[in-house]
Amino acid sequence: MSQKKLSTKYIFVVGGVMSSVGKGIAAASVSKILQARGYRVANIKCDMYVNIDAGTIRPAEHGEVFVGEDGVEADQDLGNYERFTDQICTHDNYITTGQVYLEVIRRERNLEYNGEDVEVVPDIPNEIIRRIKLCQQKNKAEVVVVEFGGTVGEYQLLLFLEAARMMKMKDSNNVFSILVSYLPTPSLLGEPKSKPTQYAIRTLNSAGLNPDFIFCRGDRPVSDSIKNTISNVCSLPKERIISAPDVRSIYDVPVNFEAEKFGLILMKTLGLRSRKNGLGDWQKFSQKIKGLEKEVVIAIVGKYFNFKSCRDTYISVIESINHAAWFNNRAPKILWLDSEEFEKDPKKLKILDQVDGIVVPGGFGSRGVEGILLAVKYARENKKPYLGLCYGMQLACVEFARNVLNKKFANTVEVDPKTSDPIIHVNPRQAENIKKNRYGGTLRLGAYDCDLVKGTKTAKAYGATKISERHRHRYEFNNDYREMLEKAGLKIVGINKETDLVEIVELEKHPFFVGVQFHPEFKSRPLKPHPLFRDFVKAATRK
Ligand code: GLN
Repeated sequence: MSQKKLSTKYIFVVGGVMSSVGKGIAAASVSKILQARGYRVANIKCDMYVNIDAGTIRPAEHGEVFVGEDGVEADQDLGNYERFTDQICTHDNYITTGQVYLEVIRRERNLEYNGEDVEVVPDIPNEIIRRIKLCQQKNKAEVVVVEFGGTVGEYQLLLFLEAARMMKMKDSNNVFSILVSYLPTPSLLGEPKSKPTQYAIRTLNSAGLNPDFIFCRGDRPVSDSIKNTISNVCSLPKERIISAPDVRSIYDVPVNFEAEKFGLILMKTLGLRSRKNGLGDWQKFSQKIKGLEKEVVIAIVGKYFNFKSCRDTYISVIESINHAAWFNNRAPKILWLDSEEFEKDPKKLKILDQVDGIVVPGGFGSRGVEGILLAVKYARENKKPYLGLCYGMQLACVEFARNVLNKKFANTVEVDPKTSDPIIHVNPRQAENIKKNRYGGTLRLGAYDCDLVKGTKTAKAYGATKISERHRHRYEFNNDYREMLEKAGLKIVGINKETDLVEIVELEKHPFFVGVQFHPEFKSRPLKPHPLFRDFVKAATRK
């Protein structure tokens, strides 16, 4: 039977009123709902900054740098997309102003505009559109969900909104937009106010777009009367004004949207029919995690802490701990410990008596390193389950060299370039980059294979001896120290065969002490926790 080919649908997700309204989770939830109804989706994040990628941005500034299989260093929202849809994101899923301009200027230099003058409009929006369509083709997506960073009304968003408007003009039946807005509840009034959202709608209107849905973020569900007011302002049926109150877990968001019948209304709006029914396992999972009472307490010892972005900086690590805890039927309780506090007062290490496991996540530079080394020593000596991620693996090796091999000045050359015992050193391939100040996109990035030693905790966790994991680092374990460490009990249990680089270390005679040169946190999923996190948390639940 011949079937009419479905036109690709595009949904733009734009923020209103303020930043941090949860656009990423909203966009990921929209995709999850579409996927659950049988559609092939792709997510794109557009960031307004001129940086080519997020790799050169301080994590405390803009959150975690998410690394894809192909080595893309992207905004943390790609992590949300992967966790919700279980689909791999690459360079194609991430667009920045910098990338767009770089490509337009490259083309101009190559005479690819055939002697025409190159204009900001339409050439910049056209390049944005080209990238969006490329991602659609590569993913064979039936629906593409494109999230714009920032908030309507910001100057730097204009060209992206213009791209959306141009697409809508050409193909009005297949291009849609969702405004994720915020309704503040002033404490003196005690009720949510919709005026800022009304302004945001008008601002979006002035860019030539009228939203097809409004997600109303706020500390409580919105009332019918507010839905009425908003629906009048943007001439939308009330059913397309969706309540999006704060939730205990981000994984509840798709479930709550479905409770508002969003999936059905979305299908109707897009002109699609459901091929499959509903969220199934996801719904059960969201239910399960609500019922867990017994806690597992995990400390993250790091240094990228400030009021604004603690959670954002370590989001994939935090989510991986959550996934693993839920799998082990525990409610996760995460303590964020600033390693510099341990340096100021080592007595503060006492707090680690109260935790069931310790994670040292990735990091760069010398600040806070001595404090991290104290925490690693504590974990090793007190037999607390330990999981070291990247810097956490490198520093576990340094700690072992200092305190077990008695090499008092052992270090990573990142901290002490002249150390007499460079346990972690610069790989010759990287030396040139550092000398020439080539920092953007030059780390060891993306997926690399790793061979595991049979019979180790790591191999047992993976249930395999060949794995592949994502990397993001410049320094490497120094093979001159391999034998010494192994003899004293810190085993090398994973290597990259091609380069002979050490990828995993594991301490003997310890309930769980594993350091990995890569970032397993990028591959953990809510319903499929990463094996290393899973077994680490399992060890932490055994008292
Ligand atoms: N700073 C270390 C390196 O560059 C570790 C990086 C990380 O933890 N991501 O090798």
